[in-house]
Amino acid sequence: MTASGFVTDNFGSMVFDESTMRSKLPKETYKMMQASLHYGKRLDPETASVVANAMKDWAIEKGATHYTHWFQPMTGITAEKHDSFISPTSDGKVIMEFSGKELVRGEPDASSFPSGGLRATFEARGYTAWDPTSFAFIKDNTLYIPTAFCSYGGEALDQKTPLLRSMEALNKQAVRVIRLFGNITDTHIKTTVGPEQEYFLIDQTHYKQRPDLRFTGRTLFGAKAPKGQEMDDHYFGTLKPRVKAFMAELDNELWKLGVLAKTEHNEAAPAQHELAPIFTTTNIACDHNQVTMDLMQKIARKHGLVCLLHEKPFLGVNGSGKHNNWSMTTNSGVNLLEPGETPYENAQFLLFLVAVIKAVDEYQDLLRISVASAGNDHRLGAHEAPPAVVSMFLGDELAAILDAIECGGAYDAKDREMMRIGVHVLPKFPKDSTDRNRTSPFAFTGNKFEFRMLGSSASPASANIVINTAVAQVLKEFADILEAADDFEAALHELIRETITRHKRILFNGNGYDANWINDAESRGLSNYRTTPEALRHYLDEKNVKLFVENKVFSETELSARKEITEENYCKVINIEALTMIDMVRTAILPAVSAYKKTLTDACISAKQFCTESDLPYEEETLGLLAKYSSAAYHSLRALEHSMKEDQKPTASEALAAYCSDTILPLMEELRCEIDAMEPLIPKDVWPYPTYADILFYE
Ligand code: ADP
Ligand code: MG
Repeated sequence: MTASGFVTDNFGSMVFDESTMRSKLPKETYKMMQASLHYGKRLDPETASVVANAMKDWAIEKGATHYTHWFQPMTGITAEKHDSFISPTSDGKVIMEFSGKELVRGEPDASSFPSGGLRATFEARGYTAWDPTSFAFIKDNTLYIPTAFCSYGGEALDQKTPLLRSMEALNKQAVRVIRLFGNITDTHIKTTVGPEQEYFLIDQTHYKQRPDLRFTGRTLFGAKAPKGQEMDDHYFGTLKPRVKAFMAELDNELWKLGVLAKTEHNEAAPAQHELAPIFTTTNIACDHNQVTMDLMQKIARKHGLVCLLHEKPFLGVNGSGKHNNWSMTTNSGVNLLEPGETPYENAQFLLFLVAVIKAVDEYQDLLRISVASAGNDHRLGAHEAPPAVVSMFLGDELAAILDAIECGGAYDAKDREMMRIGVHVLPKFPKDSTDRNRTSPFAFTGNKFEFRMLGSSASPASANIVINTAVAQVLKEFADILEAADDFEAALHELIRETITRHKRILFNGNGYDANWINDAESRGLSNYRTTPEALRHYLDEKNVKLFVENKVFSETELSARKEITEENYCKVINIEALTMIDMVRTAILPAVSAYKKTLTDACISAKQFCTESDLPYEEETLGLLAKYSSAAYHSLRALEHSMKEDQKPTASEALAAYCSDTILPLMEELRCEIDAMEPLIPKDVWPYPTYADILFYE
């Protein structure tokens, strides 16, 4: 078989997708499944039983012996509890069984998952509910059933539940809007996402020797290597054979699971890479991203590598993010952020465009919150990722069009290609002339928006919950106004114009890394929350609670639970990092420095016998420097240890998070500085850990 034939045959071979359903399900059942898939229709228990049985037979045929409800609790990773298909018979044998009930609902013990206080008010038990819109698949001889995870009282304990709710909120309002433009045939609007995933690959040997990487996913120490990313020779460079083999296996495994892995390349930093899938429906894209992150880590091990998904594994080179490409599509496949061919389509495009602008401006704090984590705080604001200030980039052409609409003036497109539009109230504009601006947090890229603030390790769900809900809210306000208007075109024009005037402060086409921009942003009234605790303080602001409650995405209780979970997680991460640091310094680094100081002291004595006045006393000087740094380091270590004492820490969750960011982190940074200053002074065989040069430039 040809390689391409192999790929096409293998693609989705482990997925109970539509084509498998068509061949395995009775016609009627298949139709019901389709309705459920595309229009969210509920399946009756009888149909579920038929589906369950067909799914089981197919899975057994493919070698599966177990099934699992696969869900995404608030741990950042996925969870699964495996049950086998076996069921005892009266004659002491077993048969393979899987009922509709088992497919539709599971009851894992929820008590060990983060619940943000929901557990205190409700029972410990939780339940998982099948999400028929994301296909079941087979991995490691187990049938994986994507599910939502809720408390017994129905409170969301996961990422999928609110994500599905937010997609439904957007669907409802977006359909109202397309109706106003005369579209009476489309019945459903989905949001689509293509998440580009960045990651590092390092050698397993180095990983094992670094407790910081093992416990925290990032290096807590490490002097800069002589070479970093300044030569730009890694970006899109030739792949190392081991990395190439890893990527080939990863692609192959992802394709079997129906994940549309498309592009694999080296990224800017040494040892950094990226995988971009082809976009798909948001909840599937999020599920696929989880599978991708999971497989990346497993397959790396098989190649003697370790995949680091942390946002900032190494100081001094770029960290990793996840670019969330986002749009909205009707069930007939029309991308609502694609500038159209007809006047009406163009007007509709502009309305959806300004809806996103307004949504991002009004809920900029929530967007920042949706990507907030201890890891991502190291990235946002460094000169590699968008700053912590949320702004939008439209490109010069589109910005000029919006200007012209706002001022009522003419738009001069010069000799660029024109789209055929003729509505007198809207100017003409050229097709696809958006530029790339890599520094913008939220950039329009021709027919979609790219939100670039997401951390590499987090589920893309959080960010999409906010984008979907915020846009749904704005579309609702727009639909309310336009449905009530006597003169639709005049009202539409006025609405677009007014939205631009009110929200243009969020538009910024310049360099987001420029220090002046931060001042400029402040004078525009944009928020700049540098740290997670600072951002989280605004989670429960009245307008934010209102947004989620009114759109039925989160109840107030669920929202405060999320705040608490994020805050708690932040504190735990800093706590583990600080303890790891203390341990590394106390048990390995300072002892090594001390031993080496003794070696130098001995050497000093013998060197002195041969020294002349003009000789530079290497041993003595190095000893002096080491004495200075190690004493400072010990001082910092003691301060850090003191700050970690329970009686020093505030107890309230918000205060503790602030303490972590304002007291513990700066002490950790100080300690790191002093340790990093000693590393280059000490022979490699004496330094207890692999260096940045070893880790980043492996073969
Ligand atoms: P680049 O940004 O490198 O030019 P593309 O524009 O082709 O690459 O796409 C980047 C990512 O955006 C890919 O994952 C792609 O599938 C995704 N994407 C493209 N169109 C859409 C869309 N309508 N909705 C969501 N994601 C999209
Ligand atoms: Mg991109």
